Amino acid sequence: MALDPSRTVAELRELRELTGDADGAQRVAWTDTWERAREWLRGKLDGIRADETVDAAGNQWFTLRGDSERALLIGGHLDSVPNGGWLDGALNVVAGAEVLRRIASEGTPPLTVRLVNWADEEGARFGRSLFGSSAAAGSMADQDEIRERTDSNGIRWVNALAEHGVDLDRALDARAELEGAAAYLELHIEQGPVLEAMDLPLGVVLGTFGVERHQVTFRGQAAHAGSTPMDKRRDALAGAAKLELEIREVAKRTGGGAVCTMGSVVTKPGIVTSVVETAECLLDQRNLDASKLASMLEAAKAAAAKFAEQRDVEVDWERVWNIEPILFDDELIELADEAVNEVAGQSHRLPSGPLHDAAEVARAGIPTVMLFVQSLRGLSHTKLEDTKEEHIELSVQALDRLADRAVQWIAER
Ligand SMILES: [Zn+2]
Repeated sequence: MALDPSRTVAELRELRELTGDADGAQRVAWTDTWERAREWLRGKLDGIRADETVDAAGNQWFTLRGDSERALLIGGHLDSVPNGGWLDGALNVVAGAEVLRRIASEGTPPLTVRLVNWADEEGARFGRSLFGSSAAAGSMADQDEIRERTDSNGIRWVNALAEHGVDLDRALDARAELEGAAAYLELHIEQGPVLEAMDLPLGVVLGTFGVERHQVTFRGQAAHAGSTPMDKRRDALAGAAKLELEIREVAKRTGGGAVCTMGSVVTKPGIVTSVVETAECLLDQRNLDASKLASMLEAAKAAAAKFAEQRDVEVDWERVWNIEPILFDDELIELADEAVNEVAGQSHRLPSGPLHDAAEVARAGIPTVMLFVQSLRGLSHTKLEDTKEEHIELSVQALDRLADRAVQWIAER
């Protein structure tokens, strides 16, 4: 059976019909709709020799055994955010299924080829992303916290997991799945505007950004808005406002796609008749280069200290979360470039701002690379998410060419 990229488009539409509504995709992990999507995938791969298994973390695997135990993995996630798009995660899986079919039709492959549908990439219901892939990668270390988490209806995560056959205490057993893995490939929509702006259908992902997330709190003095002269104020918001503008400069000076975002500022007492006493800011900084990320943080801290002094307020920093940059494999990046050049005539290398399951797999030491396909208007996590049909088809072809190259590459190592 030859590769049929138009079938991927038709199947994605079918999945959208089956698991979406007027507001978008509703394949939230650990729900009936998500289970229906998994069932649908099972049906789609019924006709080929691949064995289906579900691991201890709920990841769904389709294994096409080859002459060798060493495995090429192709992955994605069928789960979506509520009112999500039709392509985020699903394109990866459905395109991967097409590639698996093509390989299966050619007889026993030299290596084992496995398609994985990761469980709960989005973390939409319980607020923690990458559940299945972090369990398989062995990096899941927050079981105690997961045990306490509930959804917005007060349903405990552990109970929702149990309903879908996952025992949290055993989730890390999923690590066994990566034992024979020699490479991991993931195709994904870009979810940003870069490829569209360059008028390119496809790109190769260098890695995922490292993230530094801090709460920055400026503390001044509440005082009456009418009786306190301007030069006598200790206005915490003044420091926060200066910092918000400065982090843009920090990102600009750093370049290379660096981003800084102050996503929230909460002021107290938060009334119109008082000078702001505390301004609690949430700052998110991202870069693909660890040392540049560290200097961005330094620069923001130095600027905050300077503004605090100028405004006679105090400032303190508390780290909320961080992750190091995760770089993909140099040789696989080369192969991905070749595959993209072959089907699209031109390739472009770019970092990924969002995290993906691929980051967890790479973190586990498995050579990894991702392909991005252009997103229209850069939109994702909304029903407006879209990609041109011809670009979806090109992306399936590129994944297929990359899979062939990766099999060759593994065999030669
Ligand atoms: Zn995704």
